Amino acid sequence: MSTSISDYAIATIGSHTALQILKGARDEGFRTIAIITPEIRPVFESFPVADELIEIPSFADYFSIEEELVKKNAIVIPHGSFVSYVGVEEIATKMKAMYYGSRGILRWESDRSMERQWLQKAGLNLPRVFTKPEEIDCPVIVKFHGAKGGFGYFIAKSPAEFYERIKEFPGQNDYAIQEYIVGVPMYVHYFYSALTGELEIMSFDKRYESNADSIGRIAAKDQIESGIRTSYTITGNIPIVVRESMLPMFFKIGQDVINTSKLEGAPKGLFGPFCLEGIIDPNLNFRVFEISARIVAGTNPYIEGSPYTALRYKEPMSTGRRLAREIKQAIEAGRLEELLG
Ligand code: AMP
Repeated sequence: MSTSISDYAIATIGSHTALQILKGARDEGFRTIAIITPEIRPVFESFPVADELIEIPSFADYFSIEEELVKKNAIVIPHGSFVSYVGVEEIATKMKAMYYGSRGILRWESDRSMERQWLQKAGLNLPRVFTKPEEIDCPVIVKFHGAKGGFGYFIAKSPAEFYERIKEFPGQNDYAIQEYIVGVPMYVHYFYSALTGELEIMSFDKRYESNADSIGRIAAKDQIESGIRTSYTITGNIPIVVRESMLPMFFKIGQDVINTSKLEGAPKGLFGPFCLEGIIDPNLNFRVFEISARIVAGTNPYIEGSPYTALRYKEPMSTGRRLAREIKQAIEAGRLEELLG
């Protein structure tokens, strides 16, 4: 394998965190490729982060151009939209292009019960889960599998209320019932270097969700009278700086997740960017309801770096750029293979 970054390109699908990833890769000196659809073209013509645009009719057609990526020696960076359009199984079994990260981990992350097993092993404080609606004895949030961006989740307080609300989703049997945690949402963005074994906190965010984040603008009486249902559809991300005394806890749980990540089918474990998603209750317990084992969109506000990366780096360091720097250092040290899953 070549040890010169000019022999490689960084490529990803033009959505989610693609702007940040490609800008970061460019700032580190890489040639960049955006895989786009006709609707997305204007975005990439306006924001000049890609040296090359490869157009496909839909992101689901990724495999029709993969050969081209292989010829260009492109390293593909997975993000949320990439995983959802290309598919976990296809990535694990069919993908031929160089893939940054551990494909085996994707399987653990995308299956709710495997994910829970992993996070339990790491000792995290998880919300209770209910295997049967009859067990509901506290407020719960019901999440449909594969629900795009939190759309359609609902809250119930009893089995009766659950059965009443589920009527609105005929034929949908694939859901998870989780204890609803009252507190503030918090998403922690980490980067774990497979090269140095160091864990970094890059930034924090919360999501801006419709209509959950605007229900408080209506009086409770009007909410009840108009029968408003809460939904959690993501529309954007809001930066957060956390209470500094919570940082040791965030470092510890991030490390615990890394330490337990050499899971079956994922011998290299988790490395690169990842995110723990949870709610902080009034007693400052961080109740984790999900892990994303890849870059998350909550890092997008920090294209010019975050207050935390400013403490560690002299230049603006986004998560996308951090990732490109890791790849660059691996290439130059002849260790790229270690970052490819
Ligand atoms: P998710 O799709 O699991 O990332 O959840 C979407 C949104 O639902 C989150 O951003 C939270 O606002 C909310 N949420 C998810 N799980 C819980 C929970 N266990 N307790 C309270 N709110 C939650």
